[in-house]
Amino acid sequence: MGLKAEAVVFDLFGTLVPSFSKGGYEPCLRGMARDLDVPLEPFRRAWNGQLWQDRVMGQFTDAQESIARACQIIGAHPPRDQVEAALARRLDYERSLLVPYDEVLPTFMALRRGGMRIGLISNCAMELVPLWDDTELSRHIDVAILSAAVHMAKPDPRIYELACRRLEAEPGRCLYVGDGSDDELPGAAAVGMHAVLVAPKSGAAARKHDAAARWDGPRIKSIADVPAVLG
Ligand SMILES: [Mg+2]
Repeated sequence: MGLKAEAVVFDLFGTLVPSFSKGGYEPCLRGMARDLDVPLEPFRRAWNGQLWQDRVMGQFTDAQESIARACQIIGAHPPRDQVEAALARRLDYERSLLVPYDEVLPTFMALRRGGMRIGLISNCAMELVPLWDDTELSRHIDVAILSAAVHMAKPDPRIYELACRRLEAEPGRCLYVGDGSDDELPGAAAVGMHAVLVAPKSGAAARKHDAAARWDGPRIKSIADVPAVLG
């Protein structure tokens, strides 16, 4: 493309690190239901269904409150230590995902050599907020915007504008790279960013990923191709 960019903004899950997978998340969710002594399916519907949007928008004081609220919806009132146990289990699982794909850090280095600043926008539940700063990945990113911390989510134009402002780059000088979840690519393009789809990794996540099929803009196979997009 040969863009005149000053910053590259990445999505997190499915782009820099693996997405929640059924194989990994399901045992975690079952474990949480056990910790809380609540039935699995109603808990899943309350926490991942009814409350999902509020969790991503950070509408609770903390993750403990979001778990307690899900229990309340299904008529359960577990004591604090059970809520803490369930949260600890969830945090362990989420921490295990926050390891970047092999090509990510070398690509970041190449981008920095080219003078790029690096940003991140993630639609994520509140659990990520206290974990983020302790991750190795966070040290390689100049500006990270987590939906639950800023009470906005992609594709709201304001979340992209916030990222660009903090990166001190006009949207037209920013490249946005993501696997396409949450309409993030049209959202980025709508504020004037250059948006590129990175193909989801193979497996179940890629198969059910219809956002990738709908996007008719530029696409790359791997994060390692980002420097070439910038030319
Ligand atoms: Mg994603």
